[in-house]
Amino acid sequence: MSLVRPIYPFLARSKRWFPVRTGLKSVCLTTTRAETSGVDREEKVVIVGGGIGGLATAVALHRLGIRSVVLEQAESLRTGGASLTLSKNGWRVLDAISIGPQLRKQFLEMQGVVLKKEDGRELRSFKFKDNDQSQEVRGVERRVLLETLASQLPPQTIRFSSKLESIQSNANGDTLLQLKDGTRFLANIVIGCDGIRSKVATWMGFSEPKYVGYCAFRGLGFFPNGQPFQQKVNYIFGRGLRAGYVPVSATKVYWFITFNSPSLGPQMMDPAILRKEAKELVSTWPEDLQNLIDLTPDEAISRTPLADRWLWPGIAPSASKGRVVLVGDAWHPMTPNLGQGACCALEDSVLLANKLASAINGGTESVEGAMESYRSERWSQVFRLTVLANLVGKLLQSDNPLVCSVRDNIVSAMGKSSRTNDGTHKL
Ligand SMILES: Cc1cc2nc3c(=O)[nH]c(=O)nc-3n(C[C@H](O)[C@H](O)[C@H](O)COP(=O)(O)OP(=O)(O)OC[C@H]3O[C@@H](n4cnc5c(N)ncnc54)[C@H](O)[C@@H]3O)c2cc1C
Repeated sequence: MSLVRPIYPFLARSKRWFPVRTGLKSVCLTTTRAETSGVDREEKVVIVGGGIGGLATAVALHRLGIRSVVLEQAESLRTGGASLTLSKNGWRVLDAISIGPQLRKQFLEMQGVVLKKEDGRELRSFKFKDNDQSQEVRGVERRVLLETLASQLPPQTIRFSSKLESIQSNANGDTLLQLKDGTRFLANIVIGCDGIRSKVATWMGFSEPKYVGYCAFRGLGFFPNGQPFQQKVNYIFGRGLRAGYVPVSATKVYWFITFNSPSLGPQMMDPAILRKEAKELVSTWPEDLQNLIDLTPDEAISRTPLADRWLWPGIAPSASKGRVVLVGDAWHPMTPNLGQGACCALEDSVLLANKLASAINGGTESVEGAMESYRSERWSQVFRLTVLANLVGKLLQSDNPLVCSVRDNIVSAMGKSSRTNDGTHKL
């Protein structure tokens, strides 16, 4: 059952283009002609960024009969970033856009969590379904998720090697997008899904995300003869350092190590150096981790400084400006401590697509109104999760022995209560 269809059942069948209601006047999407000199292409809906949020938005719009073009700076779908964990709110969206079942077949469902100290002693363990029968947690390879989303789109929807360089809005509210290769797009509606360093967000007045003082190594260990782990998320807590691993499939295990660092450090890409540094960090920790790092192919290991941006009411700009709107990390970059960034990007995408489709197809709201209504429905959840993820990260990354000891007790106690209705499960 889809989240898209029950809300606007008639939209999924509609392939026609209707005038877009734009607050003051109606503008026909098919006949946008304003100030076209020097414009190479006119598009009704342009999505900037072909990551999880961008592709999910394009798929949701497509299922509602609305064509879009996705501008992605890379030459192909991003394969880095190893894997991520999706909770039930993410799965709800994947079901809504009909790709949940095919992804479930490929990725293991986690039964619960095991929390350990750095010497390997267990702090506690719990099952996800103890408190919430509907919880669903699976590690998913980012590459597979992106490929599956892309496979739902009509050919030519994603335009690779299309890096957005500059944005300008014109008098009638259309937006001029200039790409690095010089191509100029005139768009009636722009959806900024260009991630944590979003050009669209900067143009809208958002500040740079703030580095939170720790970085993450990530990798995907490959066991050609089958991985040996139980279907559990494993966390290991140290001082100013923590790690975790999640069996993703029969042969792959996702792992991460987060470590305090006063600065972002150099942008290291050499996998040999990344591997060496990651191993050094956990050299005295349980052997499983060292093996996982050794079994990680070069292309599946990365290091990322972590950052977020809090959407303070009255201070942060709105999620939309004119007919330009933000989705996912471009709007609400958050630290991964709750495993909710991608889940929230997915939730944004389906809600926004529904609201835009309704406006485009002649509903009661204008496009601008639909964007504002999307903002107001999503803001409290994403603001709360961004703040909570930051605070949880502060506690978990502390290197003060006393704080760590208190933390271990709190974390143990939190285990049972941290599973909330919005699907959050992590510590
Ligand atoms: C270490 C780590 C672990 C994480 N773990 C989890 C987890 O377990 N669960 C979870 O739900 N989330 C997790 N996240 C968060 C998750 O990765 C992000 O929230 C998610 O990727 C956001 O999707 P997005 O589409 O908004 O941005 P992105 O995935 O970053 O996609 C943005 C896209 O825009 C493109 N782009 C950027 N600039 C331009 C431009 N100028 N022109 C054209 N294209 C452009 C990029 O190439 C990219 O393809 C984690 C993040 C990190 C760093």
